[in-house]
Amino acid sequence: MHLINTKITSCIDRYLEGFQHLLFPTICLQCSQELSRFEKHICAFCWDKLQRTYFESYEGASDMDQLFWGRMELTETFALYYFEKEKPIQEILHALKYQFKAPLGRHFGETMGKAILNSQKYKRIEALIPVPIHAQKRFVRGYNQSELLAEGMAKILELPVLLEAVEKKANNMSQTGKNRFLRWDNASEQFCLGKTPVSYRHIAIVDDVITTGSTLEAMAQLLRTKYPNLQISLLSFAIAK
Ligand SMILES: [Zn+2]
Repeated sequence: MHLINTKITSCIDRYLEGFQHLLFPTICLQCSQELSRFEKHICAFCWDKLQRTYFESYEGASDMDQLFWGRMELTETFALYYFEKEKPIQEILHALKYQFKAPLGRHFGETMGKAILNSQKYKRIEALIPVPIHAQKRFVRGYNQSELLAEGMAKILELPVLLEAVEKKANNMSQTGKNRFLRWDNASEQFCLGKTPVSYRHIAIVDDVITTGSTLEAMAQLLRTKYPNLQISLLSFAIAK
């Protein structure tokens, strides 16, 4: 009976989805072409233009591993796409951050989850911690893009998301225009431990885009001060090339 009900519900869902698409055709975020009812947010053509890293199938060290060499010990790293300025990925990340596109964030998170689902490297991750933004910023923006990515990944990988393990302190000055070392100093004071204790052996920090990695370094070091044996991995939507 339950199975029949599920089948009927999914049939109705599909019917409604098709009907909704007919009434409100959605357009591609990138090229503004109308999307087919099987595409979400971005058309297949534009997805194809993004540059995949394929880090999930690397056996040796990836560019991402190398970025953190000598800075902090990471168990596994992953980024779905390379980030380059003036390329479609820049607009996509901008939309994710500022255009109130919560479903888009979750969709990207699901795409990240599917990319690593069958890779043995990531099987031991037990929980996800999104890079937090300050509460005030979250209130104004309505969401935290890293949290959305984590939610999407969590759905596919069936992992818990720890929202209050690390908190962002008051708004810092803009990070742009400072050199890497100044940024590091600044970043190390950006976070504090939140009220949720981390009772896992291996967690992954989830971020939208990694450039210098200083924010992640600060966050990981903070977690290590409290949990010296915690294994930390990094999962990001994009990484600067
Ligand atoms: Zn497109």
